[in-house]
Amino acid sequence: MTATLPLETSRSSARTERIPVAILGATGSVGQRFIQLLANHPWFRVHEVVASDRSAGKSYGAATDWRLETLVPNDIAGLTVKSLGGELESRLVFSGLDSSVAGEAEDDYANRGCAVISNSRNHRMDDDVPLLIPEVNADHLEAIDSQRRKRKGYIVTNPNCSVVGLAMALAPLERTFGIEAVQVTTMQAISGAGFAGVASYAILDNVIPYIGGGEEEKIETEPRKILGRWSEGRFTDAPMKISAQVNRVPTIDGHLMTISVKLRDRATVADARASIESFSGEPQRLGLPTAPKHALHYLDASDRPQPRLDRDREGGMAVSIGRLRPCPILDFRLVALVHNTIRGAAGAAILNAELLQARGLL
Ligand code: NAP
Repeated sequence: MTATLPLETSRSSARTERIPVAILGATGSVGQRFIQLLANHPWFRVHEVVASDRSAGKSYGAATDWRLETLVPNDIAGLTVKSLGGELESRLVFSGLDSSVAGEAEDDYANRGCAVISNSRNHRMDDDVPLLIPEVNADHLEAIDSQRRKRKGYIVTNPNCSVVGLAMALAPLERTFGIEAVQVTTMQAISGAGFAGVASYAILDNVIPYIGGGEEEKIETEPRKILGRWSEGRFTDAPMKISAQVNRVPTIDGHLMTISVKLRDRATVADARASIESFSGEPQRLGLPTAPKHALHYLDASDRPQPRLDRDREGGMAVSIGRLRPCPILDFRLVALVHNTIRGAAGAAILNAELLQARGLL
């Protein structure tokens, strides 16, 4: 952790000075991860929980069908769930809202002066909203200035859960050699569909070669914004083509993807692997609390990464990569794995908020 941050000045004061945060959609799959990951966070403490009218007015413990391996923290179980749209005391708001309500609600809280750190798809492609992976495009935070000219607060989003893994795997190759084309096939866990998600009768003994909500389109567009540039007040996409095919598979957590890449400059397998193994970014330089020591883990075994064995690497915040080898059609093939509700959702948003705090933007 950085010694220069005000919240870090003394170990004894850190707890009392932790920033109060609200979680929108706190009862859902991503919301529960927020609660779990923030339970002992050194800079942030959960102060308010918000969900639908089905949950509002109940205690969090009663409203939530808790599905994680850790227990609901006692202090959170007793919080009363608030209605969406009501006044909040917290200025930092994490959103794991269903996309049917996220767009308007997030705008509303940003207009009221909150820093809204969102998982939902609604604002990801907005002209002045950073689609942030702190290791990859921390400079995109400059777009916040444009938002602040129009309203008191701002929105920062994290990418689609598969896109986090894909963009992190591509980032060192793009930085070092440039990328012309990507072909990716995903095998996505059922937790990515939320709790209402996929019926067990539909997914057990099965693979479903379709995921609704524009999943393939998100995977084909979001990485181009993330790997692109913010300059002269606008985003310019990275000029690569991406073709995506998505599948829902019967794993609980962890999105696995096979990727083929065509590079702009020539590279050997050893060059490409070296770029992946040396990849690092601002969270590692700053020592942010949720940052993995190594954002990318290259695994040598020819049958890795695997969801069950590798998704929890570095608390679920590292992306695992393996099987880098030549491709007879494009240049290289590789396999990547991301924990979809941690690095692909709640953990990603928390890391985004840590970067904002470290930059003095909260
Ligand atoms: P989920 O399990 O279905 O949870 C949805 C949350 O939104 C619940 O807390 C629910 O509250 C709340 N909600 C639903 N309708 C509402 C309304 N009308 N007013 C207020 N609150 C409402 O979904 P999830 O998987 O956590 O996903 C949440 C968001 O994160 C989605 O936008 C999703 O696309 C995105 N995301 C998910 C993942 C993942 O891996 N799961 C990854 C990245 C991004 P109640 O419990 O009261 O209904």
